[in-house]
This record gives sequence, C-alpha cells and structure tokens, in this order.
Amino acid sequence: MLLNVENLSLSLKKDGSYLKILDDVSFQVEKGETLGIVGESGCGKSMTALSIMRLLPDKAKLEGKVNLEKKEITALSKKQLEKIRGNQISMIFQDPLTSLNPLHSVGKQIGEALYLHTELSKIERKQRVVHLLKEVGLPRADEIVNEYPHQLSGGMRQRVMIAIAMACNPRLLICDEPTTALDVTVQAQILDLMNKLKQMNDMGIIMITHDLGVVAEVCDRVIVMYAGKVVEQGMAEELFANPKHPYTIGLMQSIPKLGERKNQLGSIPGTVPSPKNMPLGCRFADRCNKAMDICRGKQPSTVEVGPNHTAACWLYEEKGVGRYDASRGERSEATFHH
Ligand code: SF4
Repeated sequence: MLLNVENLSLSLKKDGSYLKILDDVSFQVEKGETLGIVGESGCGKSMTALSIMRLLPDKAKLEGKVNLEKKEITALSKKQLEKIRGNQISMIFQDPLTSLNPLHSVGKQIGEALYLHTELSKIERKQRVVHLLKEVGLPRADEIVNEYPHQLSGGMRQRVMIAIAMACNPRLLICDEPTTALDVTVQAQILDLMNKLKQMNDMGIIMITHDLGVVAEVCDRVIVMYAGKVVEQGMAEELFANPKHPYTIGLMQSIPKLGERKNQLGSIPGTVPSPKNMPLGCRFADRCNKAMDICRGKQPSTVEVGPNHTAACWLYEEKGVGRYDASRGERSEATFHH
C-alpha cells in the first residue's frame, strides 16, 4: 500500500473556538492507482489533501495517522516534511497562474525543484528540465525552457505545473481540480497525460474534483465526501453502476449529458452544512429525499453495500443486523443482501 489515511480529523480555530472540518476520514491509495475524491465545495476534499501534505495553519488540530509507504508522515517534524513535499509527494492546483512565479522562466522553476531535492549537477538539471518538458507533451521544449508563464496558454502552463510536480519522480501526486480552468479539449489531453505518467512511474494519484466526468475518465477508485466525512467509497465502475448513498445518487444525476458540460454540480437542492452548525445525525439529512426519523437523531455508521463498496447511510444496515424499517420507525430483522 502506498498511502494509508487512518481516522483523520482536522479542527481549525475560528473566532476563539475549534471547528471540526474533517471527521474520521479513512482511505488508502495503492501504487499505480488513481483515487478520486469527489463532493461539492466545502465538503473537505481540499482540506484532506492539505492535511496529508500538512500544509495547515499553525493552530490546526490534526488527529489520526497518515502513512506513506509505511512512514508515518503525521509524526514528522517540519524539516522532515519539507523533504517529502515536492519529492515523495507533489501537488498540482487548479490555477497554474497563481502557482507559477511570473518573474522566473519555466526552466528555472522546474530546475528549482531538482535543485532542492536532488544531487544533480547544473548541466544534468538542465537536461532533465528539457526532458520533463518533452515528457509532459510540450512542443519546442528547448525554447519553452527560457519562456515565462505569461507567454504560455492555460493548458501549457498546467503542463509546466505537472512537469514541476513530476520533477523528482514523486510516489504520490495530489491533483486539486487540475483541469477545472481548462477547456474541454485541453482537459482531456491533460487527463490523458496524467494517466500516461501514472503508468510510466507506477505512482499513486489522488484526484480531487467536483466533476464526475473527470472521475469516470481517470479514476480507479472513488471516495465521496460530504460535510467533512466519507459517505461512500468503492471502485469507480461499481460506484457509477451502483451508487448507494443518496448524496452520490444526487451527484450522479448532475452529470452532464453527452454534448454538454457543466462545471458546477447543481441539481441537489440546499447547501452543505457549515461546521458551526453540524447536524447531530446524518449530515445530509436536510437535503435527502429518503431521510427518516433516525437519520436526524444518530449518525449512520459505514457498512458494506457491495464488493469493496461501503456507504454511511441508515438505508443500509450491516449484514445480519437488519434494515431500518421507516414505516415502523424501527429496525426490521431482515438480513441485508448485497
Ligand atoms: Fe438520507 Fe438518512 Fe441516508 Fe442520510 S442516513 S443519506 S438522511 S437516508
């Protein structure tokens, strides 16, 4: 296993008190696997990534464990972490313009990652920079190396970001909405490129997105997050064929039909609850058309709903425990069948 995230909880200080942003998040990423993390804005997707990278404000409280190839990164000092970031774990953000330095050439910015994390000589670094630019599919690599971000298109800039992220052959690449700012054709090219790089380098990828179209194209496995919790988890194919959690089903219904492309998920009425007013029971209850009395009173636990497929919802009960019978307001003795 490449990455193991175990019972991760994050609280951030706001107006003198701590608010829980992530609650008991657990998942794994294998080598050569792309894991999609999906959900609307404010569900905790990006905070999960920043918690793995430990790019958090000073007063953040992080509980749980994150292991990268058996090394517990939650236990590392700031200095040890700096060695891991950009080296064993890299991250790509949505907007390359804000991540790239406008004053430095493309070559200098890629070379800096190599300077910080490798023993390569100046000449070797230069050769590797040109090689990386070619690897991410940029034409005229020998010229682009001396160009500045504003001279490149959005798609080219994102390729440069990928080259920076790939410079030190990371074991894990975290991509936070990497194609949201790009048009559909360029988006498809970038996703293709990421698939290719993953296979070449046998690394793991975490793909954070609100776009289930992106998930369908590149992800092997998916976790669905809602209000700081994982509500469903499964292999991408199984999850698309057989979504179980009402929130996932709502997200699926918002996938654009062939020929149209929506950037926002919009078909679930209501909004994600704020950490200040987190409901006591299921956090999706106010927006769920299947909500029952028990949903508002008690949080559902995570249960198996199919092969390698789990969901946290009162509609599904553990095998042998029985299903909750909404009409009688109690659990029935019926055994749950997958
Ligand atoms: Fe809906 Fe209840 Fe399931 Fe929550 S637990 S998603 S409210 S049915």
